[in-house]
Amino acid sequence: MTAYLFEPAPVISAEIAGADLRFPVRRVFCVGRNYAAHVREMGFDPDREEPCYFTKSNLSVVPSGAEIPYPPGTANYHHEVELVVALGKPGFELAVEDALSVVFGYACGLDMTRRDLQVASRQNQGPWDIGKDFENAAVLGPISPADDIGHPSSGRISLTVNGETRQDSDLGHLLWSVPEIIAHLSRIYRLEPGDLIYTGTPEGVGP
Ligand code: MN
Repeated sequence: MTAYLFEPAPVISAEIAGADLRFPVRRVFCVGRNYAAHVREMGFDPDREEPCYFTKSNLSVVPSGAEIPYPPGTANYHHEVELVVALGKPGFELAVEDALSVVFGYACGLDMTRRDLQVASRQNQGPWDIGKDFENAAVLGPISPADDIGHPSSGRISLTVNGETRQDSDLGHLLWSVPEIIAHLSRIYRLEPGDLIYTGTPEGVGP
């Protein structure tokens, strides 16, 4: 038995809808600028040259419904509602036509963002980490298995704050579709079961 200096961190896991098994979370990939109207609200022109990625530590994952503190270091803490893809099989150099074969299921998530820190990092041409990767920054709902719900390529994605609709779009507006994202990511990473992909947020982000 290996002896550790201190207690190792517990396995990070997520709820699977309708199952007792839990989904162990490995890496958290996020896609930026993946809905044209959100790209414009952030001050850029939409294009499809290359998908834009960043990552979060799996330590940032927190279940939907949790009560979380306002994070330190920001005065502009934003919601970004996103479709989350949960991988159940490994994948490397996948073709777009084969990409959905590695998907276990889908969830609703929030890519919580310290917008002021993200914008400052961008202006300094530095990395986004402190704006994106922090405690409780990856809110995750239960994962619905694709065996139960299929592979949604359209359908409403929306977010309300205290009853007021802030974000309201359709998954059909993704600039890079789920199979395109998985195939592209699999050319720069060896994807593994437990990896999550936050697929980007539509317009209407706010505090
Ligand atoms: Mn996002």
